[in-house]
Amino acid sequence: MARKIGSRYTANQILGRGSAGTVWLGEGPEGPVAVKLLREDLASDQELVGRFVQERTALLGLDHPNVVSVRDLVVDGNDLALVMNLVRGTDLRTRLDRDRRLAPEAAVAIVADVADGLAAAHAAGIVHRDVKPENILLDMQGPLGPGGAHPALLTDFGVAKLIDSPRRTRATKIIGTPDYLAPEIVEGLPPRAAVDIYALATVLYELLAGFTPFGGGHPGAVLRRHVTETVAPLPGIPDELWQLLVQCLAKAPASRLRASELAARLRELLPMLAGMPPLDVDEPDPELDEEPETPTGEQPPPSGEPVRRRGAVPLVPGAKPADSNRDTHTSMRVPAPDELAGGARGTARVPRPAGARRPGSARHKAIARRRRIALSAGTVVLVAAVGAGAWWATSGDDAGATPQDTRTSAPATP
Ligand code: ADP
Repeated sequence: MARKIGSRYTANQILGRGSAGTVWLGEGPEGPVAVKLLREDLASDQELVGRFVQERTALLGLDHPNVVSVRDLVVDGNDLALVMNLVRGTDLRTRLDRDRRLAPEAAVAIVADVADGLAAAHAAGIVHRDVKPENILLDMQGPLGPGGAHPALLTDFGVAKLIDSPRRTRATKIIGTPDYLAPEIVEGLPPRAAVDIYALATVLYELLAGFTPFGGGHPGAVLRRHVTETVAPLPGIPDELWQLLVQCLAKAPASRLRASELAARLRELLPMLAGMPPLDVDEPDPELDEEPETPTGEQPPPSGEPVRRRGAVPLVPGAKPADSNRDTHTSMRVPAPDELAGGARGTARVPRPAGARRPGSARHKAIARRRRIALSAGTVVLVAAVGAGAWWATSGDDAGATPQDTRTSAPATP
């Protein structure tokens, strides 16, 4: 069923649903487009509409082959829509779900593309804030690159920021997905360009390993690991690639590479990675003690059913429960300072070489299933009691990024 969006666009068919709205295959004066129609409750929020219009210039100005361009912003009656270039392909989460792990060459090529897109955004003072496989689209009509990888484009620019407004959040709220959240966000600092680098390095690790470095179990445990644990080495990963990953997963934002440097360094590695098969690693043992037990009297969900954690709230306050398992959101507190203090104190769960014996209990399988759900879904909203003003003041006009802010190659401060 077709519907008009403003005076220039028609939305013809649903391409997908996300947490902030529905993406339609549409038609505009210049041909096919993707139209992201924001949810009604967002569209009816006057403040958000104002911000939407304010963001117009920055969003429309971002033009790069590895960024899904926003062509138009439509405010029309009850409709609030982003009109984007149509990408004919799939998102990286779908690809990961299918293949579990990618060959290093393809993984690095995809991540280098995204790093190029981020470099353009950061230079324009825009921080993405929600880099994750769901927001990376693979253009199946584009030319095949190294390792048979299709061109990768980063989408959803500015959306996290648009829906993160002071009135909506009141107290400080962290918007993001727990597995990809940089430690400084967990600690309540404003999100600057380096948070995107951390998230992208997490994506690279996930493409290589089949799981994220600090994921698994309760979202609170995931957040704590970002702050206190160092990343565990992946068996068989070439050292140069590992060093890059470690640098971009550094706890100190200033120690991470800039996006343009990351892209260049990754591309330098491509010839060495040519023909290398996917890494042969097994997911580390789940930390059973961090997995919340089913409360007494509560039945565990039947096999295959997404786990709805108690206290789950949507990314945007007031939103309906998600209709997709990618939209599970959890409300929680920021860990207390003493829980976070002291920097990295341990090493994240260590992946085993493939074939090593693992405890193959039914419980383990259930936990692994739940973790997959959490990984593919898990946009987390953290409500904290502190720092609301600072958060907004620093992210209000440019998400905290100026071109200077993106210079992150200074030595780490301990
Ligand atoms: P949200 O950010 O609200 O969670 P998404 O941006 O992830 O929603 O979009 C939902 C779905 O729409 C995704 O599965 C994605 O594949 C598809 N999609 C999003 N943007 C485009 C685009 N520009 N072209 C084609 N498909 C798109």
